[in-house]
Parts: sequence; C-alpha cells; structure tokens
Amino acid sequence: MTSVLGLSLTDRLVLVVGGGAVSARRISRFLADGARVRLVAPELSPAVRALLDAPGVTWRSRRFRSADLRGAWVVHTATGDPVTDRAIAALCERRRTFCVNASDGAHGTARMTAQIRSGDVVIGVAGEVGVDPTRAARVRDEIGTLLTEGRLPVRARRAAAVGRVDLVGGGPGPVDLMTVRARRLLAEADVVVTDRLGPSAAVLSELDPDVLVIDVGKRPGDHPVPQDEINALLIAHATAGRRVVRLKGGDPFVFGRGGEEMAACLAAGIPVDVVPAPSSAVAVPQAAGIPVTHRGVASAFHVVNGQGPVSDTTLRALADETVTTVVLMGVAGLPRLVDSALRHGIPAARAVAIVENGHTAAQRTIRSTLGAVVADAAAAGVRNPAVIVIGDVARADLLLPRQVAVGGAAG
Ligand code: SAH
Repeated sequence: MTSVLGLSLTDRLVLVVGGGAVSARRISRFLADGARVRLVAPELSPAVRALLDAPGVTWRSRRFRSADLRGAWVVHTATGDPVTDRAIAALCERRRTFCVNASDGAHGTARMTAQIRSGDVVIGVAGEVGVDPTRAARVRDEIGTLLTEGRLPVRARRAAAVGRVDLVGGGPGPVDLMTVRARRLLAEADVVVTDRLGPSAAVLSELDPDVLVIDVGKRPGDHPVPQDEINALLIAHATAGRRVVRLKGGDPFVFGRGGEEMAACLAAGIPVDVVPAPSSAVAVPQAAGIPVTHRGVASAFHVVNGQGPVSDTTLRALADETVTTVVLMGVAGLPRLVDSALRHGIPAARAVAIVENGHTAAQRTIRSTLGAVVADAAAAGVRNPAVIVIGDVARADLLLPRQVAVGGAAG
C-alpha cells in the first residue's frame, strides 16, 4: 500500500545516489521542496552538473559508501545499476530510512509523486503499486488545470493570521476572458467585494454559499458606497484575517480606482496585489472589429473619462488624425464632448463608433460621424455601458473592402 505523506523537507538532507538524467530531475524537485541534497556519484551528466551551483547541493565524487547515509532523512537511488540500487534500498530498509529506488521493477520504501502547487495547496499523485509516471503526470495536470481555473474548492477553512486583498480585474464581461489567476483567487476568497460591471454575475454564482459577497457597484450619478468606505471595508476584512478579492470590471487600474484602493491597503499594512485584465478601452472596440491602433490609420490612442470636462489634451487628441480617442463612461457627456470638438474646428466628418455592452449577447455598434452622433445616439437609445471610439479606425469599412461593406455600415 502507498500512502502520500505531506513531508517537510525544508532544510532536511536528502541523499541522491547516481548522476544521470533521473537524478537531475529529482534533485531539482527536492531543492524546490526546500531540501538540502547530498549527491554521490563518480560521474555527472551535464544536467546534474548544472545543478551543482544551486544552494544546498554538495557532491561526493565517488561511488556510494554506507557512510553516505549518515544524516539523510530520505534517499533516492538511480545509479543505472539495479543491483547497486537494490543494495542501497536494502541498506535503507535496515536503517529505517525511506528510499526511492528508481531502477525499473525494483522499488524502495518510497516513491515520487507527481506534484502540483497552487497558492498554498500541494497535491501529489502516486500509484498504489508499481510506477506509472505518465499516468500520474496526466492526473496531476488535469487537477492542475482545475486548480488554476479556480474550479476546485481550495478556499482556506481556517482564518489566516494576516489576510490580504487582491484587486482583481474581471475583464469586459465573459468569464472566459478572465485570467486563470483571477479565477483561482476568487476560488480562494473569503470575501468578494464587487462592482456590477464585468463578469460578476456569472462568477459570483459559482462561489461557495458561505463566501461573503458585498456589492459596492456604482452606476453613473448613483454612488451607493463611497470610495473611502470601500477602502475601509477591504482593510477591515483583511485585518480580520480574511482573503479579500476586490472584483472589478475591465482592468483595476483603468478608471477603476484600483490605485486608491491599493494605496489605502498599503497605508494600512495589508498585503495587496493587482491582477490585470483586458480593459474595455481596448477590448470593447475590438469586439466590434475596431483595432484602436491600425497600422497606417492610427499610431496612438487616447483614453478619457467622458464624465469630466473636456480637456485640452482630449481636444488635441481629437484634432490629430493619427490618434484614436476612446471615451469610457461617456454616454451622458457625449453632447458636451461633441460640442467642444466641433467648436474647436474638428471636422464633422470624423468617424465615431459607439459600442454598447461589448462582449455580451446584447452587444450593439452604432456607426456615425462627429456631426451626426448626438442625434444618432439619441435615436438609437444608447445606454451605458458603452465605449465611444472617435477616429478613422471607427469607420465601418476599415477592415472590409468598400464594396463588401455597402449596406452593412450599421453593423
Ligand atoms: N476598469 C474598467 C473601466 C471602468 S469605467 C476597464 O478597464 O474596462 C466603466 C466604463 O467602462 C463604462 O462606462 C463603459 O464606458 C466601459 N465598459 C466597461 N465594460 C463595458 C462593456 N462590456 N461594454 C461597453 N463598455 C464597457
């Protein structure tokens, strides 16, 4: 029978006998597990030689002697000679030291597991009898995929001494546009503080029922939870030892106030990290086939919050034919933006596209021009969330030959 023990090899001595390719892989693994390695071999393969400089490795350049066992907690033998390996395994058995015997057909008192780490979870896969490394690795890899996608219930059941906050970007909407890191952190979270944008509805329904979900979502003109209260909430839960995910639509650092939340956590001494995500500034135009920088058409893009006053920088970007202007949160302020631009002498014929609900089933694109867009948006009943793109890349026929685009310009 085989049992998988969670050994602590940190700073413990592992004896590795043999200098071939198998030893090289195992030495790397033991080092990764924190062990010190005593290597005994008259000759080394290049792969083992490359490991000699690693901290914690010492080499006895000769054949094995029983004195080499002294001080070793675990032994790994792969000399390439089954008789020698078996003799070393027998010696270990007498000394009650666990031994992995890598020779075919003859196994020691221990065997390697196929191992994976994710966050603070370690999973090892072993066979009951015999060794089938390919199968073990396959099982390990499948589990690894589930782990990294956050599809296993790995949430810690005991509060940690110190909690943490992760500012997690959820992307523009679909769950499969989230990063695997975002999914994993959500699966590990005790508390999720969320906005309404992005993939929140779909991923929140997958959480354990006892995960605390706090909706602090904001809509334009309606700010249910003030920013300093959100900051205080994040800090309070993390201080109580909880893992807090602050889930945001798009990228946390693009008009997401992620910087303020990070600064507040840092000031409170809370460990905090950011997980990036596709920002709607790029991903929403792209969903409508608009490349914000298209070679020969636009060589830069300017991203602006449409709620504020129209700045000189934005007017200069609008005036520059080689710059694409991308407006977030811009539906209500569109008439003001257009008015400023036209009064500033920007041609009324400049192309404008409005992409509503990008990357969702409700996605809709309105193609217009600076001169006509206010009326067109009103007629179409454009609503948030929407991204407004101004510049030649917003032309309906940009990626299609003109004759094909005729009649499809509204799409
Ligand atoms: N941090 C976010 C932006 C937050 S500001 C990001 O990087 O994407 C909110 C604005 O993002 C909305 O007003 C809208 O302009 C835009 N937005 C976000 N998701 C969108 C979507 N799926 N479709 C269209 N616009 C979207």
